[in-house]
Amino acid sequence: MELSQRISTILGTGSDGWDVFYRARQMIKDGTPVTELTIGEHDIRTAAPILRDMHASALGGHTGYAMVPGTTALRETIAARVQERTGVPTTAANVMVTPGGQSALFAAHTCLCDPGDVALYLDPFYATYPGTIRGASAIPRAIQTRAEDAFQPRAADIAAQAKGAKTLLINSPNNPTGTVYSRSTLDGIAKVCLDHDLWLISDEVYDTQIWEGTHISPRALPGMAERTLVVGSMSKSHAMTGSRCGWIVAPEHVIEATINLSTHTTYGVPGFIQDAAVFAMDQGPAFEEEIAAPFRRRRALAKQVLAEQNTVGLVPAQGAMYLMLDVRATGLSGEGFANALLDAHHIAVMPGESFGAAAAGHVRVAMTIEDTQFSDALRTLCAFAQSLET
Ligand code: PMP
Repeated sequence: MELSQRISTILGTGSDGWDVFYRARQMIKDGTPVTELTIGEHDIRTAAPILRDMHASALGGHTGYAMVPGTTALRETIAARVQERTGVPTTAANVMVTPGGQSALFAAHTCLCDPGDVALYLDPFYATYPGTIRGASAIPRAIQTRAEDAFQPRAADIAAQAKGAKTLLINSPNNPTGTVYSRSTLDGIAKVCLDHDLWLISDEVYDTQIWEGTHISPRALPGMAERTLVVGSMSKSHAMTGSRCGWIVAPEHVIEATINLSTHTTYGVPGFIQDAAVFAMDQGPAFEEEIAAPFRRRRALAKQVLAEQNTVGLVPAQGAMYLMLDVRATGLSGEGFANALLDAHHIAVMPGESFGAAAAGHVRVAMTIEDTQFSDALRTLCAFAQSLET
């Protein structure tokens, strides 16, 4: 008995560069302490007042089926926040609540792509992107960005691959590179979408983690609101990764389609989680800044450590909870360097290659451990790179 082609091929083929991650996990299991700089999750947990609100909501009876598109209160709160941040008129009818941004990415591609349609995405990419596209029965086509451009995509590179494609998926602030797309990058992307009649799926789950520059939502650019689906989430902005609460913001007729999909897949998000999300958002931007502050601090520490040497290069790190480090001066691939660092110093980082070919010769460092330990680990990484320099 065979499984579907769709699920059998969801992972794709070839080395995925995740060996170092699994090796680190195994070392920890075997009792070797490892400094883990691999996973994009805060080192704090969801704040107690949010959990208390969740608890009160559940005890208050909000444990039945919630409305499939999301509670009116949460949809209105998200719409108001998006409108305030972008200036684009947005109502509850433009919002569907999803179990996390990941589910929103899948819903967006499923609602926009027919089987066999080409869905574009940019390399380096968040690990699930090609599998999400394949899961929606579309064909992922990667467009490489370049280290020499600090991974800002070039419109001409996208245009060259756009013929016949249906969608383009972008992510700024970017995981894994930490790049925040500039106004001119986004203007270029918008022009390609308009010229080639592409839907734009804009993954903005890191929109509260900006260290340099400004976050611009491409939905706010001229002519883009009717062809853009924005993916958002409580995971990163409010340290609520486990609550599984995200959303899609899109034109009303697209939201109606995503609601039909949701009725037949997730059937919505628990009401007590949605109530807690409203409570969390009502805490305002100061709370969001508090959640982002440790990464802002560690990024500043990293800049100091990296300024002390010339072997390891830092991709500007304008946003998100990661640093992308250029280790090409060691003569090793990102994978080779990450494996050697794990063996020599028990420090685990992600090889750039696990995020696509464009990040070869780089490693991604998650800024998710305590400050002193973090800068010590970076110092060790730099010294190790220097010892290997060719
Ligand atoms: N997009 C990006 C770029 C991510 O890094 C992540 C999580 N690491 C997600 C989407 C999904 O996040 P969630 O499902 O927790 O909202």
